[in-house]
Amino acid sequence: MTEPQWTLVIHGGAGKITPDKMKPGQEDAIRAALHRALDAGAAILERGGAALDAVEAAVRVLEDDPNFNAGRGAALSYDGVAELDAAIMDGRTRDAGAVARVTTTRNPVSLARAVMDNGRHVFLAGIGADAFSQSSGVEQVDNDWFITPERRANLIELKADNADAYDVDMKYGTVGAVARDRHGHVAAATSTGGVTGKRWGRIGDTPVIGAGTYADDRAGAVSATGSGEFFIRENVGHEICARVRLGGVDIASAARAVMADVKDMGGSGGVIVVSPQGDASWSFNTPGMYRARVSSISARVIGIFGE
Ligand code: ASP
Repeated sequence: MTEPQWTLVIHGGAGKITPDKMKPGQEDAIRAALHRALDAGAAILERGGAALDAVEAAVRVLEDDPNFNAGRGAALSYDGVAELDAAIMDGRTRDAGAVARVTTTRNPVSLARAVMDNGRHVFLAGIGADAFSQSSGVEQVDNDWFITPERRANLIELKADNADAYDVDMKYGTVGAVARDRHGHVAAATSTGGVTGKRWGRIGDTPVIGAGTYADDRAGAVSATGSGEFFIRENVGHEICARVRLGGVDIASAARAVMADVKDMGGSGGVIVVSPQGDASWSFNTPGMYRARVSSISARVIGIFGE
């Protein structure tokens, strides 16, 4: 196989995504956003930049787009607040940064990056993470900036029906990116609002290093979306990389096997993966998943519904 020089894969969440559930114009808006996110990451990779910078840039685009459950457009907590989770990991050094329940950072993935670059800690949550954010120079916004009418309606519906978050969300909408750069390094980043109506300080898999986000130059990079409680228990990102590193399987097979395990446990969702050689893949056990990929030697592929 000819080795691609660089590869970028992104996702915008998985779930009950079927043509009949799309609102007019929604599919076009999603495709356009996925293209913009690929543009942002690919520009960095094309000029020889780091996978780490590319995944951050791609995720920032999707965080700013209200069609996805991350940054602007995030799912709301039971109290009607956007509490955002994000993580980033560098496969070269296995350095990582993560934040949970932040409420005023416009781009939580860049706050996760600031935690990583600061180097003292890996994972900050809640009030302390907001305070670190204010002192770290990343852009601040009011919590209202994140809140869209659709997400308010989801919360009202959840309370009225006494429903489960997974009923009203129908799709997870978390965003993520994995990349392999021209130097052979991999990185992963993921960002989410979590699930509608979350309470009691609930944190999902997205910012948990090894669950929703993981990168290791010896195995590959993983970003997940789905029912976070299951992804935490399966330790999806680390499990996929461990099967590659210790079990000698290729990353696409490892991703499929681990997603099958998640399904057996009762969980649903998907992952995007890239190997240190630049092989890209995705695996999901939901009807659809917003996903896209491109490499230095292959054209763009954009997918929304099941294959
Ligand atoms: N995995 C996320 C969480 O459980 C939700 C999502 O993927 O949309 O917080």
